[in-house]
Amino acid sequence: MTGILNETPDKIKKTANAIKKQRPAYSKILDFYEKIFTAQEKSAAKTEIKPAHLADDIISIKAKENFPLINLSEFSVDINSSRKLFKKICKIINKSENHMSSAAEVLFAANEKKMIAFDDLYAALLNDNDDGAAFENIALKLKTDKDTLAFITYNSIKPSLSMFAESASKYLDKDNPWEKGYCPVCGNTPVISTFESDGQRFLTCSFCWHKWSVTRLFCPFCENKDSKSLHYLFSEDEKEYRIDVCDKCNKYIKNVDTRIIDRFIYPPLEQIATLHLDIMAKNKGFESGVPLEFQV
Ligand SMILES: [Zn+2]
Ligand SMILES: [Zn+2]
Repeated sequence: MTGILNETPDKIKKTANAIKKQRPAYSKILDFYEKIFTAQEKSAAKTEIKPAHLADDIISIKAKENFPLINLSEFSVDINSSRKLFKKICKIINKSENHMSSAAEVLFAANEKKMIAFDDLYAALLNDNDDGAAFENIALKLKTDKDTLAFITYNSIKPSLSMFAESASKYLDKDNPWEKGYCPVCGNTPVISTFESDGQRFLTCSFCWHKWSVTRLFCPFCENKDSKSLHYLFSEDEKEYRIDVCDKCNKYIKNVDTRIIDRFIYPPLEQIATLHLDIMAKNKGFESGVPLEFQV
């Protein structure tokens, strides 16, 4: 949710169109996600969160122990804008007629009947201690599929999560780069890796979308730095993409070389438009390091 907000929906559209032209097989899935991301960016412009505020002693303890700055339950959410986005995402899913449509219809109706307590729903998703029990209960009560509820709930608070993560990232120590494979803000695993203008490598968090820099030769899942067991897969036709694989933990992460791409890069879109790379990596026996709930 960064960049100039008013221009982002237009840039997403252009990027999605460019990818669809290059790889028509992605048309349907990109049509769907383009709508979700556009709705999120429009919602972000109207989202207000209470910025993160961290005491100095907490920051120094966390830095010393290599703990992320924020627990999930500490994220601030704009309930009002998220609730509206929830409704919008239900509509987008219904119109798209995909595997989530019937559950989205149930949730749309439940929302119309004011049966969803959004404070409780968001708190349940951001509860780091109960293994999802509270969230599961809500899904049961609403008589709907838990995975679809999680998809819509997470995507409806994504603008708040990114904005809060951005406010928290100001507390990170700029002089000591975070050479870890988990997000310095929220502790989740990265969803995608990028090479940027000066050849520097960045990882983007699968949960709060914070981006942090790391060394180039590094497995984010086991922190292996040994060049003998780190290599990459690529296709001659797509020099801008590669899959970084680690023989030590058998996991992979997709990497986009933004220096070769002459268009706007929107990481959530890149993640979706590179599913063929996931297939390539899995065929070679590697596992995705991205948690299941964030895989498309
Ligand atoms: Zn994060
Ligand atoms: Zn590894």
